[in-house]
Amino acid sequence: MKVPLLDLNAQYAPVMDDIRSEMEKVFASHAYKLGPQVKEFEEEMQKFCEVKHAVGCASGTDALVLALLALSIGDGDEVITTPFTFFATAGTIHRVGARPVFVDVKSDTFNIDPDKIEVAITPKTKAIIAVHLFGQPAEMDKIMAIAKKHNLKVIEDNAQGIGAKFDGKTAGTIGDIGTLSFFPSKNLGAMGDGGMCLTNDAELADRLFQLREHGENPQYYHKWVGLNSRLDTIQAAVLLVKLRYLPAWSEARRKNAAYYFQNMQNIPQIKLPVVHKKAESIFNQFTLVAEKRDELLKYLRSNDIGCAIYYPLPLHQQECFSYLNYKKSDFPISEQLAESVISIPVFSEITKEQQDYVIEEIRNFYK
Ligand SMILES: *Cc1c(COP(=O)(O)O)cnc(C)c1O
Repeated sequence: MKVPLLDLNAQYAPVMDDIRSEMEKVFASHAYKLGPQVKEFEEEMQKFCEVKHAVGCASGTDALVLALLALSIGDGDEVITTPFTFFATAGTIHRVGARPVFVDVKSDTFNIDPDKIEVAITPKTKAIIAVHLFGQPAEMDKIMAIAKKHNLKVIEDNAQGIGAKFDGKTAGTIGDIGTLSFFPSKNLGAMGDGGMCLTNDAELADRLFQLREHGENPQYYHKWVGLNSRLDTIQAAVLLVKLRYLPAWSEARRKNAAYYFQNMQNIPQIKLPVVHKKAESIFNQFTLVAEKRDELLKYLRSNDIGCAIYYPLPLHQQECFSYLNYKKSDFPISEQLAESVISIPVFSEITKEQQDYVIEEIRNFYK
């Protein structure tokens, strides 16, 4: 049996006809730049995320850059985040001229440990980027309380957590600005790149709309230096169609995760992911902590099971960040996770038979 990590064939099968007809509208109008589908998609996303403003842009990475620029974060500023995340979270902090300051994660949820944030705050700290890793929101109640106490901005890197909730609130709408990615393998994926900023603050939204077009307002007059980062009309057309299916897709992922939770309890060599009691995950990934992880990865792949390591090297150990002068063992939990995590298939369309096969092969490996 073959079990891919993600099956885009299966995902697109029921939506391709609708996507084609939505695309035909774009071809008919030639409104490739900020056409009507972009605005329509932004409005649908406002409803879906229960947020006042949604600003489409070219990628999840750009969404982070735009968020940092909108909050006037740059030279000399420090921004706190975790080293156990996709590169863009910290890469964008560097890109705007600020300094990434890392705080370790919790070993069970893989998200930032709120108890370790305050010691990392200095007079230069301007913001915290909370990452909702693998689809589970970080502990936003504690993070917001710390931010309020120290007068810090909060950006939620919600590239992996579209539609997830914390304490009943939609992830990405709790801090000052939330960012989304529509990279093809995210839960809502475009046919290429796309991203979005979410905010309830009208002034920030205004600034974001301008910053995505070189900070221009009115045309050819620039108050700020922004970037060229629009969401393509073509991608908005794709996303508009797929957004209608997202609630059902997320529900399917939750069911698939529940099936793993039920049927993998008694394998002593693996630790199942933990969902915080106030959090609702959308399971962008289902990530185990496994003994003999590298061998397990090889074994599963050789048995046609797609799996991946997110992420094999924490960001404080990346060559490009050597100037930050962190050393090995500064963030022991992140380092330990990088050596022991493995993500297994949990995509919406996976069948019970495929899941049974994954579970059986994990058992076989440890036998
Ligand atoms: C995917 C991702 C991004 C970047 O999104 P792109 O659309 O690929 O630029 C940022 N942060 C996290 C946590 C991600 O998973």
